[in-house]
Amino acid sequence: MKRSPQIRVLLKQNFRSVSVEGSDLASVVVIKAEDGQIHLKDGNGRGLGSGSGFRLKPLDGKQLKLDGVPYHDRLEVFINPLSRSVVVNEVSLESYLRGVVPNELFTDRSRSEAMKTLTIAARTYAYSSLGQNAVRGFDVYSDSRSQVYRGVRSEKPFSDQMIEETRGIIATYQEKPIVAFYSSTCGGRTEDYREVFQRAAIPYLQGGAACPDTSSPYHSWDELIPISRIQERLDRLAGVGKLERLKTIRKSQNGRTVEMRFVGTRGEKILKGLDIRSALGLRSNWITDFDVHRDGSGDIVEIHAKGKGWGHGVGLCQIGAVELAGRGWGFERILKHYYQGIEVVRRW
Ligand SMILES: [Zn+2]
Repeated sequence: MKRSPQIRVLLKQNFRSVSVEGSDLASVVVIKAEDGQIHLKDGNGRGLGSGSGFRLKPLDGKQLKLDGVPYHDRLEVFINPLSRSVVVNEVSLESYLRGVVPNELFTDRSRSEAMKTLTIAARTYAYSSLGQNAVRGFDVYSDSRSQVYRGVRSEKPFSDQMIEETRGIIATYQEKPIVAFYSSTCGGRTEDYREVFQRAAIPYLQGGAACPDTSSPYHSWDELIPISRIQERLDRLAGVGKLERLKTIRKSQNGRTVEMRFVGTRGEKILKGLDIRSALGLRSNWITDFDVHRDGSGDIVEIHAKGKGWGHGVGLCQIGAVELAGRGWGFERILKHYYQGIEVVRRW
């Protein structure tokens, strides 16, 4: 069996002091970042060294603990090329997933093919991130900027089993790992990446896949948005002063609003893609109907919007994957439904 690649996960940045237990240097190592250098001392205050960086390995059969939290494999503490102090967990990609999959995904045993599908999406995302932040000295963040990772403490037997059963399997397009976009609830039909992100098209993110996500509470929604709640966002994104009118300019083929005109007391602006959803404080760009409610003097006090889905709606739909698994679909079929023209392959 080929070995899993290693991934470098950022655990802390700009820290002053951390402690590591269980390393081969001392049972407790106190690490301080000062004057652009890393300084190591043992639990009794004896100096263990100073320098630009150190790698800590676990003592045989132990796990390293960073400020009390256990992690697999190694920790590296260093000053990165941007002069920041960082702690990175250098860990096999398969062990990394054990600390990721239970945080973001479902743990319902009756839907194991959905769990496998989402595990493969998470693995593909991680694999495609290798080398992405090289200038900062790591590959992925441990929060939602990448995928939430909590190390050993979030591991669960069921997700471990799903990871083991799909070991090394990723989704590829023309031999390269895909950028595995996913959202919580697409609302019934997935979207074209190009339309909502306003960037060049990605062949396997064309959208248009029918999705049976009606069990999601966000499959469709009907909301009243007070203008006071969104004024700050409107100012930042549209900057048209007090809002007077809204007009849909263009919808995508799949029904999402991708261009909208905002007219206010200080002018007008056309917002595109996800900016529309952000400016209006909506769950998604799939707006099926809207109108505005005005007060006696004609000022808009709230926006009444109906729509579908939660998230960008591009790529895999988490709730849809669960439904399809319930109909007996396997992970490969589910992945190929949401990502057009891909291959599902075992790389290690
Ligand atoms: Zn869906």
